[in-house]
Amino acid sequence: MSEFSRLVIASNNPGKLIEFKRLLTPLGIGTVPQAELGIAEADEPHASFVENALAKARHASRLAGLPALADDSGICVDALRGAPGVQSARYAGEPRSDRRNNAKLIADLAGVADRRAHYYCMLALMRHGDDPEPMLVEGRWDGTIVDTPRGEGGFGYDPHFLDPATGMTGAELPLARKNELSHRGKAMRSLLDRLRSYA
Ligand code: IMP
Repeated sequence: MSEFSRLVIASNNPGKLIEFKRLLTPLGIGTVPQAELGIAEADEPHASFVENALAKARHASRLAGLPALADDSGICVDALRGAPGVQSARYAGEPRSDRRNNAKLIADLAGVADRRAHYYCMLALMRHGDDPEPMLVEGRWDGTIVDTPRGEGGFGYDPHFLDPATGMTGAELPLARKNELSHRGKAMRSLLDRLRSYA
């Protein structure tokens, strides 16, 4: 575990930085945001979540000379062959806008009966910048897309993402409940399991 006594978090999202710190501190893993080390966000040019997560973790790990953890996530819609996918944040173009992304998603699904979708999260942890065996964990949350937005919480596509188990959208679920169900929560719990069993 000492290998990870100082871990760079390859994200500039304040919510994620707090969440990673809260989960990793009890394991004796100290976290440092990449921005604190003057490391800029890496490019995310790839077509799959795993490639982007690896690129971000490798970038931060190489520049910092420390182990690094990165995540990449988004929503994949069956009828759209997995789109918005890695383009989730900027589905409707720049500048990024949840409102325009949601409007485009609903327009793309006009007249489409198959509303199945899932959120996906990939986490990549590299022990060093040339680590040949990075730790990879994923999480998935299955649901359906509803035309009429519901709820005030969450972010991104949550008002249109219906969780079948609870009958609530991601934006209606209390945060603690969303974390139990969500792609990111599942991936994080897998990562903790892996780190706890790491020799
Ligand atoms: P990132 O992991 O912060 O890069 O997220 C990519 C994009 O996927 C976000 O900007 C959202 O559009 C979408 N996304 C990822 N996770 C969630 C979620 O839990 N709720 C809603 N949207 C999400």
